[in-house]
Amino acid sequence: MPASLSGRDAQFQARLEAARPLEACAADAQNLTELFHALYEETARGMDATVFLFALHEEASETVRVVRQMDRGVEHPGGSFPLGKGFTSEVIRTGTPKLIRRWATEGPPVRLLYGTETKELIAPQSGVVVPIKSGDRVLGVLSAQSYRPEAYENADLLRLDAIAAQGGIAIQRLRVTEQRALEHERRAFELEAVLATMTDALLIVDARGAIVQLNRAARALLCLDSASLVLGQPLEQQRVEQWPETAREIAAALAGTIDALRSGKSVAEAEIELHCGRLRVISVCASVLRPAGGAPQGGLILLRDVTAQRDLERLREDIFSMAWHDMQAPIAVIRGHSELLLRLLSCGESDGKAVEAEAALIVRHADRLADLLTTLFDVSCLEAGLLSISRSPTDLSALAREVADGMRTAARHEIKFEGDERVLGKWDAGRIRQVLMNLLSNALKYSPEGSMVTVSVAADEHNATVRVRDEGIGLDRSELERLFRRGYRAESARKIPGGGLGLYFSKGIVAAHSGRMWAESAGHGEGSAFCFTLPLQARA
Ligand code: ADP
Repeated sequence: MPASLSGRDAQFQARLEAARPLEACAADAQNLTELFHALYEETARGMDATVFLFALHEEASETVRVVRQMDRGVEHPGGSFPLGKGFTSEVIRTGTPKLIRRWATEGPPVRLLYGTETKELIAPQSGVVVPIKSGDRVLGVLSAQSYRPEAYENADLLRLDAIAAQGGIAIQRLRVTEQRALEHERRAFELEAVLATMTDALLIVDARGAIVQLNRAARALLCLDSASLVLGQPLEQQRVEQWPETAREIAAALAGTIDALRSGKSVAEAEIELHCGRLRVISVCASVLRPAGGAPQGGLILLRDVTAQRDLERLREDIFSMAWHDMQAPIAVIRGHSELLLRLLSCGESDGKAVEAEAALIVRHADRLADLLTTLFDVSCLEAGLLSISRSPTDLSALAREVADGMRTAARHEIKFEGDERVLGKWDAGRIRQVLMNLLSNALKYSPEGSMVTVSVAADEHNATVRVRDEGIGLDRSELERLFRRGYRAESARKIPGGGLGLYFSKGIVAAHSGRMWAESAGHGEGSAFCFTLPLQARA
């Protein structure tokens, strides 16, 4: 040290010298225990550190938390004590370092639990205690103590103070890191929770287009078990051929989206149609993940099953066009015959029969309109899940016989009823009547005049079964399943007017009773049978 240095400069220099090697070693500490070791080693290198203590001040609880302590080369765990009257507490309160040359005469005795080898408690005889500070706040203390009196000088105090200054920086750094880690953990937890509760499927891809994260809904949509997808591998390198069919279809459809994300472009709403199994419509949105001003880091792909929504839209369109198409004829008839009736009445037509015939025709077509409106309303209720079923004790045999009898009067067919005397259950008689009327009117509509239509009702231990059999146009095997879809009409039936809603609605009513409906036919021209079962005991 040059002789020209003043006393203060010399002290400053000494502090710098003392602190220099420590800087690096405290900077590496990843936690408080590592920091304790770094501080202890540095202290022991330059002074008596027979006893060494590193403690933190917990302001809220006014507690001193000893991180670790050393006694004659043996490390001991820490502990806590309330801020009291000892030197440690005093240094924390005042923020001023303390040099204790002779403990016995200068201050309260200190008792060390581990200094008991001589069977009596031994106490340090001298010590230095310095605050670890951040600005004006005291974060904790460092204390070196010796069993010898007068073991420390002012220079030791300065040295320990410099070490404490480095300790302060390290503690702040650890606290910030800890804070950040906690913050990250919290954010990650929140994100996990959001992802898990999302009903939409979400995929997160990295800059190479590799899936790095996907939520539960995405796994369900892709039908992937955990073994099928290798996270972090680009989609084109996945063993896609081993994936379930839906996942393969989606993966193929997403190739363009992933390419767009790779080149930093978002994808506004697009739709893909999945044809395996039933038709499904999936809406796809993708947005690039790009840190402010940085390069694209991949992106988020959101997949939403919009099949139900599209179905509903299609239903609305169907209903509208059906209403438009099917109502025109009866409205035109009603209008034409009303005019005719008016004319007959205004010219004093005396033929009561002619007037009555015109009026009857108007009533019949108005009824047709009303039926049509009811069907459209019922179908939209069924689609919206609002179809009401109100059960009451019903004799299915009596109901079917009554419907058959009612239709026989107007029919140009032979309608036969056969079956059990009484078949009792709790069903919605009004709705089941709608089903029976639909099946019976179809049987009449799709079979030649004069042919036989048979309605039968039978019951076994669990179910009642109704069959409506005709000798009409029949159906081929491929049509049998499709008949129950909304709006479906077999090729052979298209010359006969109809909307393709009756069977769809009837099946909905039967399903709402936990029953089943199906069609049987040996082929075109072979007649057909439409059947349904209803459980005798209503299922909860
Ligand atoms: P609609 O009769 O108004 O077309 P439905 O839903 O009642 O509507 O019937 C759907 C289709 O099922 C019909 O268009 C027809 O192709 C077929 N179908 C229904 N009942 C019979 C039947 N008894 N014989 C042959 N085909 C039938």
